Amino acid sequence: MMGQRDDGQSRFVYNFRLEEHVPADHLVRKIDAVLDTSWVHGELASYYSHTGRPSIDPEVMIRMLILGYVFAIRSERRLCEEVQVNLAYRWFCRLDLEDRVADHSVFSRARHERFRQSDALRKVFEQVVAACISAGLVGSRSFSVDASLIAADVNKNKRVPGDEPVDWPAQQEASRAVRDYLAALDEAQESIHKGSGGGGRSDYGRSKPASQISLTDPQAAWVARKRQRAMFAYDANYLIDNKVGVIMDAEGTCANRSDEIAVAETMVERVERRFGVKPHRLAGDTVYGAARLLRWLMDRGIEPHVPVWDKSRRPDGKFSRADFNFDKQRNVYICPNGAELTSTGNIDQGRIVHYRASTNDCSVCPLKQKCTTAINRKVTRDIDQEVRDHVQSLANTPAFQHSSRERKKVEMAFAHMKRILKLDRLRLRGLAGARDEVLLTATAQNLRKLAKYVGHSPPYPQLAQQ
Ligand code: SF4
Repeated sequence: MMGQRDDGQSRFVYNFRLEEHVPADHLVRKIDAVLDTSWVHGELASYYSHTGRPSIDPEVMIRMLILGYVFAIRSERRLCEEVQVNLAYRWFCRLDLEDRVADHSVFSRARHERFRQSDALRKVFEQVVAACISAGLVGSRSFSVDASLIAADVNKNKRVPGDEPVDWPAQQEASRAVRDYLAALDEAQESIHKGSGGGGRSDYGRSKPASQISLTDPQAAWVARKRQRAMFAYDANYLIDNKVGVIMDAEGTCANRSDEIAVAETMVERVERRFGVKPHRLAGDTVYGAARLLRWLMDRGIEPHVPVWDKSRRPDGKFSRADFNFDKQRNVYICPNGAELTSTGNIDQGRIVHYRASTNDCSVCPLKQKCTTAINRKVTRDIDQEVRDHVQSLANTPAFQHSSRERKKVEMAFAHMKRILKLDRLRLRGLAGARDEVLLTATAQNLRKLAKYVGHSPPYPQLAQQ
């Protein structure tokens, strides 16, 4: 006789405990065991009114967002649908079987208002980093820094050249991304008028106007680099501890080299301020070889393990700066023919000093053909050239080579971010959106790492080989 199932779905559910239906080895259990969000209520209380209808519990919203980034469900609409039907997700979000799941629209409002005002997402990230430190996953005293491009959520054909005037919509009709862009422009303009636009920490030569502007998300930078398709993008910046690759700090920035360098300082400083942890060595690629950053690191007792790009090499086979000896006492260069190159003491672009040989010396010099086609030879020197030379001299040391190998961990973190957590294209627009997404992704990555190690008694299996 053919059986037929009962129409059990019309029955009430009796004695149903969500707790009993979440598998013991489910990732949500491991993450829950290492994540503390009990502080959220107290921290955000002052951002909520004492009257009116009760809002959606912010702790539930934070847990839902974390869940979404851990399981690569970044669409808030889809996340709400998943939490609605997935028992394990409900359990993680502290929702009972009959609790109503928030509408996806409340996330957008909470992000733009209370979460940003209270810096809640950074606080969540830092709580998780603190948990990693307590679990002994941090402590190599060797950090790596890097940045990775993430495509902005725009149609790249909707763009205009940066030097063309744009007729932006009025404030009330403009999208939030456009309003944020115009507000940032006003702020920059104001700081120029007040005379505080230059010389600051983030002023690493960022003065060129954008070559293209997206009409959808004007804060996204147009990036056209070799061997990469041109696109509008933001940068995800990570500072990691090399022990097991815990992300110590993360920041979304506009995609340009000067911001990458500036935020490296911000992250190193912030980690020391928040956690009292300062690296002895910092590994990075050639982007971080800016003399000013190298000086900043050395002044703080941090050895930069960064390849320094020597731009003085001449492709035409003529003498490079390395062929000239610098006499520090007399502040002159001595050329291969024994003549002196002197400087006027003027500093160009805030960093560059020019040294020139005399026309009399060069005009009768037998080596002139190997030296210059100009009337006399000029050599430039960065005001922090000594630091550059010192960092360059570290390049062949075993410690430097070790740091170069360890730097792969930050590249692996970006690969994980893009392939597993699917952050190869942002979902949120504007710089604030990029910041939120980068922080949430880094939080999810640290939580997955923490969950993986907690439960093992030290020494951790993966650490034994290091
Ligand atoms: S050309 Fe001038 S700077 Fe160059 S080697 Fe001769 S004297 Fe020196």
